[in-house]
Parts: sequence; structure tokens; C-alpha cells
Amino acid sequence: MDTTPDTAGRGPEPDCLFCKIVAGEVPADVVHETEHSVAFRDINAQAPTHVLVIPRDHHVDLVALATAAPDHAVEVLRAAGAVAEQEGVAGSGYRLVANSGQDAQQTVPHAHVHVVGGRAMTWPPG
Ligand code: 5GP
Ligand code: ZN
Repeated sequence: MDTTPDTAGRGPEPDCLFCKIVAGEVPADVVHETEHSVAFRDINAQAPTHVLVIPRDHHVDLVALATAAPDHAVEVLRAAGAVAEQEGVAGSGYRLVANSGQDAQQTVPHAHVHVVGGRAMTWPPG
């Protein structure tokens, strides 16, 4: 169980990289936006398509987002689908990844879904 406190509703976290991307303080290659989500290319792409979809509000991970703001979590997932369509991988297939916590190697504690596609994946994940 992740015991990191969720800071939903308190506005941007001052030291959060993805809050800074939402605010435009850190540049990103934005490919899709909705009222409550932003999607941008991962700086260290692991596949021809590798886009991160994040809520504009700060939540530590996807489950925290779904708990605090379920409609925003759905909006993030629908945006991920729109990105897959836009990137031309919806037909060939793609993977949605939401890392949560240390063992999953989550490195940015702001909720995000990786949209990874454009090549055949392997399973199980490493
Ligand atoms: P996580 O490991 O938390 O699931 O995913 C965080 C992702 O953010 C990583 O895939 C990493 O490459 C990406 N990332 C880290 N810093 C930046 C950045 O400054 N810009 C962008 N576009 N992606 C970043
Ligand atoms: Zn944040």
C-alpha cells in the first residue's frame, strides 16, 4: 500500500516535474490536450510511439487519481485511446502502463499513463 499522501486539490506541487509541464514551465512535445488532461512525448521513448497522458491536477498515481477524481481518471484513459488513434497504433495494438511506487519503478510521482506502441511487445514485463 502506497502511504504517500495524495495532495489532490492543493494545486500544483512546487517540485513536481509534470506539474511544471502542465504549467508550461518545463517544455514538452504536447500531442493532445483535454480540459483535465495533457499528453506529451516521453523524453526517453521506448518504442516508436511513447506518449505520457497525465491529469492536469497533481495526484501521486493513477489509483490516487481514480479515488479522488474518477471522472478525471476516465478522461485520462479516453485521452490515451485518442492518442493511440492519432498515432496510428490503435489498430496494430498498444500498451497502457501505469507504474505505481518503488517496485514498479515509478520515477515521477504525478499520475500518468504510458501509451506505448508501434512495435511488438514482450510479456512478462521486466
Ligand atoms: P515512470 O517511470 O514514473 O512510470 O515514468 C516517468 C516517465 O517520464 C519516464 O518514462 C521518463 O522517461 C519520462 N520523463 C522524465 N523526465 C521527463 C521530461 O522532462 N520530459 C518528458 N517528456 N518526459 C520525461
Ligand atoms: Zn504534479
